[in-house]
This record gives sequence, C-alpha cells and structure tokens, in this order.
Amino acid sequence: MKKEMGENKSLFYKKNNYFDEITKQEEKNLENFSKDYINFINKSKTEREACKESKQLAINNGFSEYNFGQRLKVGDKKYFINRDKSIILFKIGKNNLEEKGIKIIGSHIDSPRLDLKPQPIYEDNGFCFFKTHYYGGIKKYQWTTIPIALHGVVVLENGEKIEISVGENDDEPIFYISDLLPHLASAQMQQKASELIKGEQLNLIVGGKSYKSEEIKEKIKLNILKILNQKYSITEQDFMSSEICAVPAFKAREVGFDRAFISAYGHDDKCCAYPSLRAILDSDSDDTVMVILADKEEIGSEGNTGAQSKIIEDIIDEICLSLNKNSRLTRSRSKCISADVTSCYDPNFPEVFEKNNAAKVSCGTCVCKYDGSRGKSGSNDASAELVGHIREIFSKENIKWQTGELGKIDIGGSGTIANYIAKLNIDTIDIGLPVLSMHAPYELISKADLYSTYKAFSAFIK
Ligand code: MN
Ligand code: MN
Repeated sequence: MKKEMGENKSLFYKKNNYFDEITKQEEKNLENFSKDYINFINKSKTEREACKESKQLAINNGFSEYNFGQRLKVGDKKYFINRDKSIILFKIGKNNLEEKGIKIIGSHIDSPRLDLKPQPIYEDNGFCFFKTHYYGGIKKYQWTTIPIALHGVVVLENGEKIEISVGENDDEPIFYISDLLPHLASAQMQQKASELIKGEQLNLIVGGKSYKSEEIKEKIKLNILKILNQKYSITEQDFMSSEICAVPAFKAREVGFDRAFISAYGHDDKCCAYPSLRAILDSDSDDTVMVILADKEEIGSEGNTGAQSKIIEDIIDEICLSLNKNSRLTRSRSKCISADVTSCYDPNFPEVFEKNNAAKVSCGTCVCKYDGSRGKSGSNDASAELVGHIREIFSKENIKWQTGELGKIDIGGSGTIANYIAKLNIDTIDIGLPVLSMHAPYELISKADLYSTYKAFSAFIK
C-alpha cells in the first residue's frame, strides 16, 4: 500500500468549482479578462469582423503583417491574413525548431448563422423579404422572433468592396423572422421539432413601405432597392457577389445576480479564439508559437480559409525555410491545442449526459481526449502520452481544468479542426470551454471557464 490511511482522500479525483477556490487577485483578473472578452465578441459577429479585430489587437501588440516569400528571423512577431476571413499569428522564438517544434493553438471564428441567398430579395403581401440559407448546425425554430442584424460585404464588378452592418446600434433598425401564433399552430406543434420551421421559411422581413411608381408592380421591393442604392450604391444584381450574414442582434451580457456567466451570440468559438489570441499576444516564450483563427469550421473546415487548407502547412514551411530548419522534423516535434468548445452539463437535460464524464460548469477548461460519434468515429483521439504532457503543464502552472465528453455514447457527436492539424503529423488535443445551449442564437459560458482557458493556453505556450 503506497498511501497512508490518513491520505485515503488523495486516492480519489474530484472536480471542484473554480469560484470556490479562486483568490481575490485572480478573481479581479478574471473580471478584467471577461470585460475584454465581451468587448471583443461584440465587435466580432462574423469571421471577417473577428479577423479584423484580431489584426488590430496584433498590431497594437507589436505584430506586423507577413506575406509569403518574406524572410523571417528569431524575434519576429507576425500575422498572416487569409482572404480577410482567417488569421494566423506567430512569434519566432530562439529555441531550436527541430528540437522543440512549434506550439500551436487553433480555434475558429465562424459561428452558425443565416447567410443571404444570391438572389435574396422579394415582395409578398405587404412585406419585403430576404431569403436566407442557414450556415452550420442550427435548431431553425430558435431563429424566429428574435432581433436580427445584417453583417457582411458586397463586392462590385469593379472589385470595390462595400461593408454592411445594420442592427447593432440602438438607433438602427433590426430584421425579423416570423413564427406562427399558437392559436393557429395546432398542426405545426404536432410536427418534429426539426420541421417546425423549414429552411425556406427563414425569410427576413426587411421592409413594408412602397415607393410610388406607375411602371413597377413590386413597389415595396422597389423602395428597399432605392434605400440600398442610396446608402450603399448597390443594385439587386450586386447581391450575387456578396456575403451578407444574418446574426442575432443581441449584445453579450453578464448573467445572474452574481454575474457568474456571460451570454452571447457566437461563444462557439470566439470564447476559445479570444483566449488563444490573448495567450500569444501576452507570451514571451522562447519557443516558436502560433495561433490559428480559422474560418468554415461550422461547415466542415472546407475551402481555402478553413483548417483543411494547406495554408497552415505552408506557413510552417516558410518559417522553417527562413530559419534553415527541416519542416517535417519541426512538425513532428510540434504540439497543438485544438481550441474548441464542448457541451456543458445542463441540469435541465440530464438524460443526454453521462454525469461522470460530462464537463461541469465553472470547473475549468475542458480537455476532450476524443470527440466523434458512436465508436469514436471521426475522432482525433489524442494519445495518453499527450494528455500526460498536458497534465504535467497544467499541474505545474496550477491550471483549473477538467476532462469531458460531449454526451452519452450513441446520442450524438461532434468534430473540430483537431483532425486536420493532426494530419500534418502534429500531436493535437482538443481543449476548450463548456458551453450551455451551444449553437443557439444566444449561448452561455462561465467566466471561470473562460479565464481558466486563457490561463491554460498561456501555460501551454509559455
Ligand atoms: Mn466550435
Ligand atoms: Mn460549432
């Protein structure tokens, strides 16, 4: 027997609530970090806006723009903007890349939403509508009867890019998707929840006043096109080359009498992206460190701004080329945190969680050894060695953390960008915040988990 009788307790592992043990000083830091995060997420509803905001923070912290072909040297602090929708930041440390590799944290800055269709505008019975096409996994009925804002860009034939943002300021109008009144919903309420509201019913109300005209029949549509033309110099055809996203017009808010939680649109995955960003901005590591804020995770990390793009490998190659190091060897010695959210145990829905292995609110950042579905299908499944390595770092730096699985086996599943980084022969593990009501228009996290995630990411790249 290795342990004395009096130490029986130390044989057990128990999760604790971070708020129970946090020091006064740490709680102050937690509140400050939460304020900064609220500020960030309010300005970052789309990947384009998150990219822009991250770039500004990078510049404020002494980073400068990197382009392919540029020679790099030890001490360089660089950011690379990928088509305005994704950003990669890196700092070249003095440690040998071929021995220490690169410490990478990768998260995503896109969130579920409704995109406008290429031909969105039409008039019907006193309303002018925009047709939308949902992006990512949503419960469609949740997007009705809430205030909606529009964010995006319209690109004209001459290449000019017009930015659009309407619905965030109190003096601006918002947009609206209707639902059926309960009085007439007896048939609707008998349907499966996935069919309560169909994709083609997610039509945004954008106007209702007509423009006086003899020759045009659709007078409300004409009036909206007049307004858009006046404000943005665009016509109906310009929507074809646009990316306009309909997102909830809610601001991030503190939740609860004690303000323990934060609700916001797009916590997934800005609540991991922001701690990643802050970790590299605040880092003075001797290792080379990199933070990837990717796009398109919610639709499978596809395309050249998603994490499956060769861009990540290309940038590692460029760093190695500049420093005269072997890229393959460097990648084999590198480690990556795939920073993405997981589900939070919800006492209102205990039936979907396995309580010994669900992430609990306020118990710290969550290490997910694997995700996937059914028999771990599609999962990265980090090695015991890598989890051991992470444990060692977190224990040394006194990080509040826990392990977690999304839900009960065979109930559902999920994936992250972990697989795509791991494919580059990089040891990769999923770590991130537990989120309540993930993918809803308004999600909830704990300030304790947000702050512990920042501390965990900082410790990892230290
Ligand atoms: Mn995510
Ligand atoms: Mn997601």
